[in-house]
Amino acid sequence: MGRIRVLSDHVANKIAAGEVVERPASVVKELLENSLDAGATNIRVEIENGGRRLIRIADDGCGMLRDDALLAFERHATSKLHDVKDLLSIGTLGFRGEALPSIASVSRLLLETRSREEETGTRVEIAGGKILVCDEIARGPGTTISVRDLFFNVPARKKFLRTEQTELAHVASLVTHYSLAHPDKTFELWNGGTNLLHVTPVETPRERVFQIFGSQTLEDLVELKPREARLQPDPDEPARAYAVQGFLSRPQVQKNNRNSIFIFVNGRLIRDRLILHAISAAYHNLMPPACFPFALLFLDCDCEEVDVNVHPSKTEVRFRHQSWVHDFVRDAVRDQLMLSRPAPSFTPGAVSPGAVPAMQRGAELPYSEFSQTMQNETGGAGLPATVPDYTLMPPRSAEARFDFGEGGIAVNAPEQIPVAAEVSHAEPAVAETPLKLRVPDTHGGFPAEALPAAHSMSGIGNLRPLGQLHNSFIIAAGPDGLWIVDQHVAHERILFEQVLKQQAAGRVEVQRLLMPVILQLTAEQQIEYARIADELANAGFETEPFGNRTIAVKAAPSAVGQGDLERVIYEILEIAENELRSVSVSDLRRGIAASVACRAAIKVNMPLDQRKMEWLLRALAATDYPMACPHGRPVALQYATREILKSFHRI
Ligand code: ADP
Ligand code: MG
Repeated sequence: MGRIRVLSDHVANKIAAGEVVERPASVVKELLENSLDAGATNIRVEIENGGRRLIRIADDGCGMLRDDALLAFERHATSKLHDVKDLLSIGTLGFRGEALPSIASVSRLLLETRSREEETGTRVEIAGGKILVCDEIARGPGTTISVRDLFFNVPARKKFLRTEQTELAHVASLVTHYSLAHPDKTFELWNGGTNLLHVTPVETPRERVFQIFGSQTLEDLVELKPREARLQPDPDEPARAYAVQGFLSRPQVQKNNRNSIFIFVNGRLIRDRLILHAISAAYHNLMPPACFPFALLFLDCDCEEVDVNVHPSKTEVRFRHQSWVHDFVRDAVRDQLMLSRPAPSFTPGAVSPGAVPAMQRGAELPYSEFSQTMQNETGGAGLPATVPDYTLMPPRSAEARFDFGEGGIAVNAPEQIPVAAEVSHAEPAVAETPLKLRVPDTHGGFPAEALPAAHSMSGIGNLRPLGQLHNSFIIAAGPDGLWIVDQHVAHERILFEQVLKQQAAGRVEVQRLLMPVILQLTAEQQIEYARIADELANAGFETEPFGNRTIAVKAAPSAVGQGDLERVIYEILEIAENELRSVSVSDLRRGIAASVACRAAIKVNMPLDQRKMEWLLRALAATDYPMACPHGRPVALQYATREILKSFHRI
């Protein structure tokens, strides 16, 4: 007898469940999608213990006929597809007919449903894939599915579930974002009797954003007005329709990962690299390279244009005309950003990863200032048509003298070194960012070794500030060469270490606020808040819950100005959210300290007098780790004397 056997449906369902049901949020996703496919306008999600004990979704959709209620649990049973042709144009969120049997095979499931066409409803009870009960019930039209004890029969999977808070956060994020995609419907989310979200139908996506995030966030967002386009792939074929709309953050709102980018294609929440790339491309040069915006993007197109049958959990899609879609989204986003605030524009590729990292700080300026600075520097033209004058020092002194003493090269008159970081007139004045320092160099560009990695920071203790570049970078001379120190990043490092020490000693300097600051939280933020409230207190933030999804801040570390308070707290909640999966107290503390330091530090574009510059350099030298800011950006660039000499053909 052969060794190959066809698996029973029971086993097949459990295997499918492995792909489709990863955690409570994936159950919620499948059930939500079913409710939306059923035309529901009212969806209520209720969970207990982060969804491990109970997930219940009730809708007022079309409901199921009695016969269908049982059939729905058969493998590959769906009302949404008939034959293979239909796969080419799927207009519903579901189509695989896998979700219900998969979920039912790894939980205790109760289905209660009634179609408008029938007088009575149906109740089906299933445990671990076995039907226990199927009887008639009285109920209104619609469907309620309760999923209890997820993974009760798959202990290996159950072990992978995270804490209640983590699972709850995933569910909250999912429901929140589906509600954003469907402003015309009511969504409710309850956790163990606490209401986390309740939004009622509104006319526009904008109003829904307001309901969920409040007015503050709305102000930071640019609305991407609906934009349509037609694609004619072939003269014989009909043109394809595309439309995109959504919300984008202004460039000054920066996230350190892509978790705040939500992409919906034909109403389906997906992760798609193509679209993510298009969004990043649109923000190119408006935002530092490792930062990401907040974005909600709704892309709609003819069903034939996108293959949704790529992944069992339907979180990926494939576009028929990839590069066209990429450019359509990128241009729509970019045009809207430009329209909302004229942005400095650089030639493509100007900020390459190897470029002088100083550029990365630019976007930390308040946008208006940044824009203004760039305008000034580029003569108001947006593009650096002529390279601005970067001469830092008096024009080259006729002859510099160097002592070639015992200890190597000693500079006896550093102020006379002709290191005017003068812009080369020989090089074409294009494709450079205005802030990029260039030096005449016969070896093709800024010496790679001038980047800090190749150098030691030991000389930093003996620096003598010469002045500032763009009121943002301190230019300093030292025995080992010329240094450019990013004043904001340097101060950030100093404060970061100071705050950490204060936290560890439990001696954070605190300032009471005259009036408490009231902050609105999203459902997700509220969960994070509950989790980290103690650490916030330890860091000097006195906060307390203040009604539904709001908190009152009564005191804060004195380093944080009142104007920055709100932003710091939101940032901290975001850190917690990122690190939700494996946060340790020390990581969280470092995150809080980094946030406080960043807000409290001297900004770029701020004139500093000689004394302040000296103080800053000394304090930097006294830090434990003067090389990088808490976020990993370099603090200082060094142009070693040896390189300078080489560049001038002196050695
Ligand atoms: P799919 O969504 O891929 O069709 P599912 O296993 O999720 O597969 O659901 C199977 C079928 O059960 C659906 O095709 C639909 O007919 C029915 N169904 C599931 N949930 C609901 C609901 N909330 N309201 C009405 N019908 C539903
Ligand atoms: Mg489904």
